[in-house]
Amino acid sequence: MLSITSVSGAEIAIDRAPVFVLGAGPAGLACAYTLSKLGLPVVVVERDDQVGGLARSIVHKGFILDYGPHRFFTKLAPVLDLWNEVLGDEQVTVNRLTRIYYGDRYFSYPLKAFEALFMLGLIESSRIVLSYATAQLFPNPAPRNFAEWVTGRFGRRLFEIFFEGYTEKLWGIPCTEISAEWAAQRIKGLSLLAAVRGALFGNSGRVKSLIDQFQFPRLGSGQLYERMATALREQGQSLLLNTEVVGLTHAGGRVNAVRLKDRTSGREYRAECSAVVSSIPLTRLVEQLEPTAPEAVLAAARSLRFRNTVLVYLFVESHALFPDNWLYINDPTVALGRVTNFANWSPAMLPENGTCTPLCCEYWCQFDGPWTMGDAALVERAEQDLRRIRLLDQQKVIEGFVVRLPRTYPIYAGNYEQALSTLRAHLQQFSNLQVVGRYGAFKYNNQDHSLLMGILAARNVLQPGQHNLWAVNSDSEYHEEVKVAAASAVR
Ligand SMILES: Cc1cc2nc3c(=O)[nH]c(=O)nc-3n(C[C@H](O)[C@H](O)[C@H](O)COP(=O)(O)OP(=O)(O)OC[C@H]3O[C@@H](n4cnc5c(N)ncnc54)[C@H](O)[C@@H]3O)c2cc1C
Repeated sequence: MLSITSVSGAEIAIDRAPVFVLGAGPAGLACAYTLSKLGLPVVVVERDDQVGGLARSIVHKGFILDYGPHRFFTKLAPVLDLWNEVLGDEQVTVNRLTRIYYGDRYFSYPLKAFEALFMLGLIESSRIVLSYATAQLFPNPAPRNFAEWVTGRFGRRLFEIFFEGYTEKLWGIPCTEISAEWAAQRIKGLSLLAAVRGALFGNSGRVKSLIDQFQFPRLGSGQLYERMATALREQGQSLLLNTEVVGLTHAGGRVNAVRLKDRTSGREYRAECSAVVSSIPLTRLVEQLEPTAPEAVLAAARSLRFRNTVLVYLFVESHALFPDNWLYINDPTVALGRVTNFANWSPAMLPENGTCTPLCCEYWCQFDGPWTMGDAALVERAEQDLRRIRLLDQQKVIEGFVVRLPRTYPIYAGNYEQALSTLRAHLQQFSNLQVVGRYGAFKYNNQDHSLLMGILAARNVLQPGQHNLWAVNSDSEYHEEVKVAAASAVR
């Protein structure tokens, strides 16, 4: 009989060495939930005091707030099944309204052809059509970067108006330095580009569903993950919060134990494992291997780049500020990148008789700029930005607070492919270690991709090698991706 000690001090007895799942975000929880259903003992280790990772919800004075907009959409049947199984009736239908701010104007997204042409004017519209025609007449057979990929499909002018500013704000590097693979991975199918093309050049009806409505957890995106955590506990599985993974010991091509640190007491301890599924940052995982990975592997890990997010939450004295769920601020003259209005999601996220509107303003950076600014200065900056783009007029900002999220966006630039393949090759030697998730596998995942990776990793524990996790959210469609009509894809 093996036992480990939880944060509360209680001894947890386990019949056989459990599978350790590192990180309780969407990928980790989907994995643990699936493993538990398969009848395996699981221990989930989460550094924070709450589950859900980047998709958690936080509570502030009766408001339920997400980390920016967390619309759920999927074409993946196993993920949809999981979503419905876990949430059941705890879902609401949200009317979708999103717009893009560019050139002092708000354009509907998905774009409406006549509205866009009218707002852009005859000259600009002609330039768009001409540059689109040029791109079609002289196709670029091998786009080398994001700028070439987008321009090749939609023309230079559309790229400049609707994509360049937002993309460069998000990634902090010129579009010519961003991998074309990123565009191929994230922008195929239903996308801003598809919407633009649909609006301006017609579409086959696919984009129309892009979507006017979506299903959403009644109590915020984190409700899905809280319910998974509850199910795990009810099934007798262990979920260790406030516990950080600080080491993985291995021998003979297998990880045999994890070293954990109780963040409350500072105590470190070791626990044996039968297998490990990790969704903690890939770079951290590699650095924590004991014995240490070769210098070339550590250097590859260190070379991977990422982008941080600073979220500034503002509470504005108003009931009906603006109707959007979220807005993209494409204009390069404003640092603000995206704004979410939680008053337009699920009514249950707002306190009864509340008198103000909760907003979330997103800024992207390295460990500089907004990351190092004081909270009060950030709140003031967000308020000024909102006034500048006319989302706020006379309304008073009552209060605000800041959340800093490190490593939210893996950057597909420079030598990342080479570095990633070095890391993959090194990790492949461990027969019982899998990596999943957004930063766990250095993939620009949405929730559904991370959920699918978690589900498939769990199945791989029982039948090793059954699923290639790296194929999820790659530019080739994964074989489990089903063509669910967009309108029915979220029930
Ligand atoms: C601003 C923003 C908006 C987004 N909008 C959407 C959207 O609209 N739709 C959508 O589907 N997705 C959206 N996403 C993406 C979504 O949040 C992610 O795809 C998802 O959370 C990834 O899940 P994950 O489990 O892979 O990683 P994470 O959510 O990052 O989970 C990893 C977990 O590991 C834990 N961890 C890290 N290190 C350690 C350690 N050493 N020991 C123990 N635990 C550790 C972390 O605390 C975290 O809980 C958005 C993300 C952001 C940042």
